[in-house]
Amino acid sequence: MNKTQKIAPLRSEIGLEHLEALTASAHQVVADVRSSMLAPEIRKKPPVFNSTQLAELCHIDKSRVQYLIKKGELPPGSQEDSTRRSWTLQEARVWVRSLRPEALKPSVSSACVITVANFKGGVAKTTTATALAQGLSLRGHKVLVIDCDPQGSLTTLFGVLPDIEVEEEDTIFPLCTGEQTSILPSVQSTYWDGIDLVASAPLLFNAEFMLPLKQTRDSTFQFWRVLHNGLSEASEVYDVIIIDTPPSLSYITINALMAADGVVMPLPPNTLDFASSAQFWSLFTDTCNSLFQRNPDKKKFHFLDVVLSRVDRNDAVSAAVRQWIVKAYGEHVLPIEIPKTSIAASASASFGTVYDLDAGSVQAKTLKRARDAYEQLVDQIELQVQGVWQAGVEVVNQFLAEREVRQNVAGAGEIP
Ligand code: ADP
Ligand code: MG
Repeated sequence: MNKTQKIAPLRSEIGLEHLEALTASAHQVVADVRSSMLAPEIRKKPPVFNSTQLAELCHIDKSRVQYLIKKGELPPGSQEDSTRRSWTLQEARVWVRSLRPEALKPSVSSACVITVANFKGGVAKTTTATALAQGLSLRGHKVLVIDCDPQGSLTTLFGVLPDIEVEEEDTIFPLCTGEQTSILPSVQSTYWDGIDLVASAPLLFNAEFMLPLKQTRDSTFQFWRVLHNGLSEASEVYDVIIIDTPPSLSYITINALMAADGVVMPLPPNTLDFASSAQFWSLFTDTCNSLFQRNPDKKKFHFLDVVLSRVDRNDAVSAAVRQWIVKAYGEHVLPIEIPKTSIAASASASFGTVYDLDAGSVQAKTLKRARDAYEQLVDQIELQVQGVWQAGVEVVNQFLAEREVRQNVAGAGEIP
């Protein structure tokens, strides 16, 4: 120790009261920061689209936008001045849904459930889950986001304060206790048309005790299927369900993985995150093996995507680790990467994502670079989601064909 350095005096006064005071102070500051950032309105505001942005969303040119306005079948938007119009998010989504019907969910298919998971915190799970929901809703899909992390970061990104505004019944908690069998009563609408939310708050930590306790009381209770079962009604209402998970392989994370058709794992190309991703999969497969020894219900995913996130192009180590990731996960690594940008960081500092940023408020070129990466990610995921819906159509068709055969056989056996 340096001679000038002094040993810090022992502080014996940090008891529970002190921690409670700290908690109150932290909540107050978060609330104040949020109020000042979203002032004068406390609620978040959805984006508004000009005709260029609307044309981009719909993949048509501006002259076609003018033509369709004249035709009068789609919302004309509001006239800003003699030459400019603007459309609300809700109006823009009506345009998108009308102009790309082939991309939407077939009515016989159920929602595709995507779980965003990784052992570690800070790898961009919540940012990815939110941006995916926003990007998919801008492609016309109806999305439900479920926050399964008791820290409630996703809930915060949707403008809801976990500690103040979230009650048990707004979360997956009633499913875990068995009070409810469907998630639908816990759903709330959000500032973003086309995205509904099941919120989270620290009270969800209690579910981690509740689930194993129920299992010990009832040996037939399958703790890992609580969320899967709870989503069955919602799967008929939404096109896509996106689940954000805590940074651990908890009981809730196992539920989220078991409910998933597809898994998205954001993974920054650094050594520790890469090593921890391997542990995540080995723990998950070990857990599945021990669960399914007693149960023939094997879990299969339709897709498993590793997304390189927070990629720093100037970092030499990143390039090496990226190669290891590709070697380890092969075709599962999506051929895109989300760059680490100050814009993405500042978007989250103001409780949003790159989809919340107004082009006028930040440097347009950097915003475009950040948003283009997410747009490519959403395009890739949408193709896989459509694959899952198509598989659903085929299951229904096969069922109908088999039923017809059975009916014909039964009919042929009848005495005329
Ligand atoms: P997780 O849910 O895995 O804990 P988050 O999505 O909360 O991770 O992100 C962790 C931090 O990284 C946040 O502060 C977020 O703003 C930041 N972040 C996420 N994506 C990017 C990015 N592309 N560039 C820069 N910062 C990012
Ligand atoms: Mg998170």
